[in-house]
Amino acid sequence: MEKNYYVCTGCGMLCDDIEVDVENNKINKVYTACRIGVAHMKDGKESAAFLVDNKPVDETTAISEAATILKNAKNPLIFGLGTSSNEAQKLAIELAKKTSATLDDASSFSLGEVIEALLNNKTKVCTLDDVRNKADVSIFWGTDPSDSHPRQLSKYAYFPRGTEKQRGWEEERTAICIDVRKSHTAKICGNYFFQIPPGGDAEFIDALIAALAGKLPKTSYNFPPKRILELANILKGAKFGVVFAGRGLVYSLDNLEPLIRLMNALNEKANFHLVPMIRQYNTRGFNENLFKETGYVNSVKFEDGTVKHGPEYSVVESLKEKTVDAALIIGSDPFSILPRSIAKNLLEVPVIVLDPCETLTSRNAKVYISTAIDGVESGGSAIRMDGVKVDFKPAVETKRPSDETVLKKIMEAL
Ligand code: SF4
Repeated sequence: MEKNYYVCTGCGMLCDDIEVDVENNKINKVYTACRIGVAHMKDGKESAAFLVDNKPVDETTAISEAATILKNAKNPLIFGLGTSSNEAQKLAIELAKKTSATLDDASSFSLGEVIEALLNNKTKVCTLDDVRNKADVSIFWGTDPSDSHPRQLSKYAYFPRGTEKQRGWEEERTAICIDVRKSHTAKICGNYFFQIPPGGDAEFIDALIAALAGKLPKTSYNFPPKRILELANILKGAKFGVVFAGRGLVYSLDNLEPLIRLMNALNEKANFHLVPMIRQYNTRGFNENLFKETGYVNSVKFEDGTVKHGPEYSVVESLKEKTVDAALIIGSDPFSILPRSIAKNLLEVPVIVLDPCETLTSRNAKVYISTAIDGVESGGSAIRMDGVKVDFKPAVETKRPSDETVLKKIMEAL
């Protein structure tokens, strides 16, 4: 019998080999997924919630209230969309154009710069399937996939057998971790864990580049030069290497220049690729969809048929400087992810929230619509963290509308 596989939208890996047992429109068992994926797949709810001022209303009233807020705003903020399908993201871009909105996602304070560099061909890229089939050296830098993307090492980077890596694991692969703390991933990497001090990434990069060129590597924090030289020797011998860049690395750098310089130095001696460790399942989709439309991956403002871009149009600066007069938050919880001093400015403007879960932000919103969970209750497509397009379908039915449906209705009501 042909197996029926689902896609897990629990993280940016979009594992497409998930099997589920469904009984009475409820997912009872999830096979193959990691612990995050199992909880995510079981998170569906049949009933919808439409709230205005925290009181239940019907769908038409909620949509009409949301449309009125956006119509009356001069500069609304549209933010989030990391857990929305490509189809919903494209509608949000259209909505931003129609309402002269500021549009941003969490990548403006996360891995947006890395994705922008990849889309601008600043370094070599590869797919996760290439990693499984060919990679002999993987570097996890400022990321702990054992916690954030639990199947990363077993499905792609370390343990699996690939077409050109038949034996898998330590026999044919080396996993290296560079981080400020001994994470779960660092423990798996054993002797190949390089612990650096917070903020020490740029210096470590310089030292590694020196070591790759055969010079004595030096750091102000006296990292043993012998160990950096040993690391450089492993990297020089890589036939297919991958740097998995995490938030820890990007937060520590003022800009991406040192990382791109390292990738160039690695590629003078070996064959290295860069893959961003993206947490939300379709952050990359948002970045790519916006890039195709505007040439930017985040932080834009649409006005009179033109698009402006800059840090002043990021969610953080827009809220800090109070330049926006309404907000549509989709699949995100600024009250949980932004500093309180910045998020609290949302209390001064009318806020619309679309989210499968009630959040701190939704509890303070003028309009809240509980939307379907993509990949569990609604279908669509997304871009995996390595840039591969993945289609997904729902496993159960719900009365909750998808982000795509709600955005379509808001557009019609404008
Ligand atoms: Fe889902 Fe990510 Fe776990 Fe794969 S690794 S099953 S996509 S949460």
